[in-house]
Amino acid sequence: MHGNFERVSEKGGAGEEIDQGALEYGVAGEVSLRWAAAELTGVVEEARRRHDLSPVAAVALGRAMAGAVLLHRLAIKATRRLTLTVAGDGPIGRIVVEVNQEGDLRGFVGEPRLDLPASSDGRLRIADAVGKGILKVHRDIVDGSVYESQVALETGEIGLDIAHFLEQSEQTESAVLVGVLEGPEGVRAAGGMIVEVLPGANPSAIEKVEASLALDSSVSRTIERGGLEALRDRVLAGLDREVMSRHALRFRCSCDRDRLRDQLAALTAEDRAEIVDEAGELVAECAFCGARYRYAEREIAPA
Ligand SMILES: [Zn+2]
Repeated sequence: MHGNFERVSEKGGAGEEIDQGALEYGVAGEVSLRWAAAELTGVVEEARRRHDLSPVAAVALGRAMAGAVLLHRLAIKATRRLTLTVAGDGPIGRIVVEVNQEGDLRGFVGEPRLDLPASSDGRLRIADAVGKGILKVHRDIVDGSVYESQVALETGEIGLDIAHFLEQSEQTESAVLVGVLEGPEGVRAAGGMIVEVLPGANPSAIEKVEASLALDSSVSRTIERGGLEALRDRVLAGLDREVMSRHALRFRCSCDRDRLRDQLAALTAEDRAEIVDEAGELVAECAFCGARYRYAEREIAPA
């Protein structure tokens, strides 16, 4: 695995140029609803592999990744970059996800190898891992303006917290589904869907979605079974619907050797001395993707 990190870092931290998921956007119920749906199994699996995530950490980060990409797609103003932060007081620490207009995602959790015993019914205890705190959304708009808003975490399950955020901060009534299915060999399915009620919505359209959501079936299992199409069909059952756009998603980090060197250079000489490895090189690791960059002391220290 470390061999992989090194190979990645030689390429400047960029991920592979392959698609690892898909994002769809559309309307439904005679334009009573607008929706976004994402399948990002490959993205979350790549995050799991890069950060060596435990099952609970992979699920928490994957839910946040699904939420971030959906929030980004549904933003009214064209958003260059959206950062979702879930900052609770639980043992997992901070969860941070960033998504951009190209469909690149990256993210990390404070304690990637957190091991929490499952609940008595075998579920991963995401809410206990997250704890109480805030959910924050930071948006860099294409016109150069910046928006930031936050809400208190309602449940720590992430999906319901995003719904709460949309209600409080955006004044929109939405249903948010996010899910990750973990298996012994890694992430088997990951994704989610947000359905937003538009002004003047037909009440019967809302009732139909509510009835679909009331059925207790897992988002990630639906995706595992039939991908995005199955998720769309399940949530929007009985409604006319139109897919208006489709984009590819991938895990890709924007870090590079020069930028991390600048961060190293900002440290004091004493702090730098503490991150020198056995070979006398400085090693900096990107928090977002795990890529490691090595520098000789003379590259960092002022001449
Ligand atoms: Zn990186």
